[in-house]
Amino acid sequence: MDFFSKRYVRIVAILLFVVLLAGCGLKKTEGGATQNIATQGKNLSVEVLDIGQGDAILIRTAGQNVLVDSGDIPMKEKLVAYLKKAGIKTIDKVIITHPHADHLGGMAAVFDNFEVKAVYDSGQTTTTATYKKYLATIKKKSIPFNVVSPGEQVDLGDVVSLKFLAPQKPLFSGGKDDLNNNSIVAKLVYGNFSMLLTGDAEQEAEARILKEYGGELKSTVLKSGHHGSNTASSEPFLQAVSPEVVVISVGENNDYHHPHPSTIKKYQNAKLKIYRTDQNGTVTITSNGQGYTINKEK
Ligand SMILES: [Zn+2]
Repeated sequence: MDFFSKRYVRIVAILLFVVLLAGCGLKKTEGGATQNIATQGKNLSVEVLDIGQGDAILIRTAGQNVLVDSGDIPMKEKLVAYLKKAGIKTIDKVIITHPHADHLGGMAAVFDNFEVKAVYDSGQTTTTATYKKYLATIKKKSIPFNVVSPGEQVDLGDVVSLKFLAPQKPLFSGGKDDLNNNSIVAKLVYGNFSMLLTGDAEQEAEARILKEYGGELKSTVLKSGHHGSNTASSEPFLQAVSPEVVVISVGENNDYHHPHPSTIKKYQNAKLKIYRTDQNGTVTITSNGQGYTINKEK
């Protein structure tokens, strides 16, 4: 073997080694949402964030970052840190399912740290300082503010869509759980994969959604309504959604004793795979529009 062929063999060997390394690297990061989005550009990831008692869900497509709810006020730094670590600078859409503090509380910090391009809101108002500040900031920054209508569909880029199913008009009124029952409920669809986002909608809202959208509720993954409370996840609703997986966003040892044991029992009887942020940390679901993988932090 002369000098040139030796060198050729060496180069090929090095190239093979590099390819092998790259392959290993890819395997190692498989399911890691950041890497998948960055390297493949075709995946959808949904991160149900571990932010204690409350909801904050980060949806990432090839083209957009979407934040559904923002957790409670005491967790705002954790939320900001998480989003920054994920490399997020711009949030294309913020969706606030309803104006309770455990969903709206992180927004002041989100507005301070990220560029928010549009807000989607349930259209409900409250008298809290948190809510007033949220509205005032939207106005001050001239952020497009959309009150969602059921049936409306928004494009999340790269053929991922989100269809709003609730709140339906007229809004619930006169009950103690109206704010919850008027939550935004929306179905995220990417090819064969789908996820139903429910905010804190309770059984009254579920019954109404069933009537209007019963035929299109079936979803691969269900975000458990109202943190797994027994006021949500009614049998008929659960049957219509018929998910394979349920994710409960809930704080450890929370004051509300969420999730309720009877709700867990229902999920178990339906043979659902149950993930909960108090036990599993942040739960990340990644889909390529065909199958899906789920990673838990712990
Ligand atoms: Zn809540």
